[in-house]
Amino acid sequence: MAITDRSDTPDSDIDLTPVDVAGIVSHVRDTYNSGRTRPIEWREEQLDGLVRMLKLESPRLEAALAADMGKPALEGFTTDVGFIATEISAIRKHVAKWAKPRKVRLPMSAMPGKGYIVPEPLGVALVIAPWNYPINLLLLPMAAAIAAGNAVIAKPSELAGETSKALAELIPRYVDPEAIAVIEGDVAVATDLLEQRFDHIFYTGSTDVGRIVATAAARFLTPVTLELGGKSPVLVDDSANIEVTGRRLAWGKWLNAGQTCVAPDYVLVTEKTRDALVDSMRTAFDEFSDGNGTQDNPDFTSIVNERHTTRLQGLLTGHGGTVAVGGESDLDAKHVDPTIIVDPDADSPLMRQEIFGPILPVITVESMHEAVEFVNDREKPLALYVFAEDDEKADELIANTTSGGACVNHVIQHLVPADLPFGGVGESGTGRYHGQSGFDTFSNLRSVLKKPTKMDLKMLYPPYTAKKEKMIRRFI
Ligand code: NAD
Repeated sequence: MAITDRSDTPDSDIDLTPVDVAGIVSHVRDTYNSGRTRPIEWREEQLDGLVRMLKLESPRLEAALAADMGKPALEGFTTDVGFIATEISAIRKHVAKWAKPRKVRLPMSAMPGKGYIVPEPLGVALVIAPWNYPINLLLLPMAAAIAAGNAVIAKPSELAGETSKALAELIPRYVDPEAIAVIEGDVAVATDLLEQRFDHIFYTGSTDVGRIVATAAARFLTPVTLELGGKSPVLVDDSANIEVTGRRLAWGKWLNAGQTCVAPDYVLVTEKTRDALVDSMRTAFDEFSDGNGTQDNPDFTSIVNERHTTRLQGLLTGHGGTVAVGGESDLDAKHVDPTIIVDPDADSPLMRQEIFGPILPVITVESMHEAVEFVNDREKPLALYVFAEDDEKADELIANTTSGGACVNHVIQHLVPADLPFGGVGESGTGRYHGQSGFDTFSNLRSVLKKPTKMDLKMLYPPYTAKKEKMIRRFI
C-alpha cells in the first residue's frame, strides 16, 4: 500500500493529496492481528523483497538520490543502496535464529524449571525517516521491524522528494502491501501519524522533533527509538598520525557534504598539532577535488535545499574565528565549500548548533584534559572520535567521556559492523539498532519460566515456620 498526501509544503517536491492516515493504520493493524506477519517465512520473503528491490532498482534509486541532493552515484551506492542491501541480507540470514526462544540459566532458587526469552513482535511499528540518507534510514529500521514480525508504516522524508516518491512506488511492488505501507508526506502527515496508536515508533531526525515524537508517544505509552543528532566532537591527541587524521576528517566532512548525523562536528587539538592538522585537511580536500574545487564537482554532494544552504551561510558569518580553508558558498547552486574555521567563539551559533554541513571548526585547547572538559560540559554526543597513536591515551579519552558510539582513528566507520549497536545517549537519542540489536528493539523479549508439577516444594507456602525460614534464608 503506497499512499501520497498532497498539500503545500515549501521545502518539498512530493505531490501531496490528503490521505486517510487512520484508515491505513487500521488496515495494517487488521493485517497484523490476522497473524500474517508472524511466520518466519513471511519475514524472510519481505526481506528478500527489499534486497531484490535494492538490486534491481538501484539505477532509479541512485538517480533519485542524485536528483534530490546531487549525491554522487558511488556515495549513493555505498551509503544508501548497496550498504543497505548487504545489511538486510545479513538480517535475512539470521532472522530464524534470532526469533528462536533463547534459553537462560536458572539460579538454584528457580529450580526445577526451564527459563526462556521468547522474542515476539510488538505489533504495528511506525518508522519516520529523514532526508540525508533517505533510503538507508527508512529501510534499515523497516527491515529490523519486519524481521521481528511486525507490520510497518513507513514515512520517508518530504525533503528528499524524488527518493520518497521512488520508495512509495517501489516498496509495495516488492513486499506485502497489506502489512507494509509507505505514507508519503510532510509535517502535517507526520503529525497525523503520531496521533495514531502504534506499538513502537522509530524516529530518525533532529533532537527538537525527537521531543515532539516522544511527547506524542507518551500518550499511549508507546516505546520509542530516537535516532537524533547533535555535535559529535573529535579529539586529536599530539600522538596522532596527522596525515591520516587530516585525510579521514576531511573525508568525514566531504561525505554527503557533511550532512551526516555522525559527521565530525568540531575538532579539539593543542596548538602544537593544530596547524599541521589544518594543513593536512587542506591537502586532503585538494586531493579529493583533484585541485578543481568542489563547486560543480560531481563527487561533492549539494546542500539539500535553499533553507539549509542559507542556514549554513549564516554559520559562516559572525563566528569570530579565522577561515583557514574554503568559506565560499552559492545559494543558487545550493553549494557550500568544505570550510575549516579556527577558533570560533564558543558561544557562536557555529559552536552551539549541530552544523550538519561541510564546515569544521577547529578549537585550540591547552591539553586533552581541557578537551575532555569541553566535551563533558556539553550535551552527550551521538559519536565521539579520538585520533591517537598512543593507545592508552585513546582508551583514557574514551573512558573519560561519553557518547552514543565512538571510533578511534577514523570517523563514521563504527556504523558499518552490524554487531556494533548504533544509537545515541541523552539528547542524541535513545535505543539501538543494526544487526540483532535492531531485531531486539522491535521485539517484546518476553520472559517465560516453565515449572514442572511433579515436585512441589512446600517450603514456599505459609505457614512460615522457623524451619522453613532457616532453609529459605540459606538458599536465597
Ligand atoms: P527531516 O526534516 O527530514 O525530518 C525527519 C522526519 O521528521 C521527516 O520525515 C519529517 O517529515 C518529520 N518531521 C519533521 N517535523 C516534524 C514534526 N514537527 N512532527 C513530526 N514529524 C516531523 O530531517 P531533519 O530532522 O532535518 O534531519 C536532520 C537531523 O537528523 C540532524 O539533527 C541529524 O543529526 C539527525 N539524524 C540522525 C541520525 C541518527 O541515526 N541518529 C541519522 C540521520 C540524521
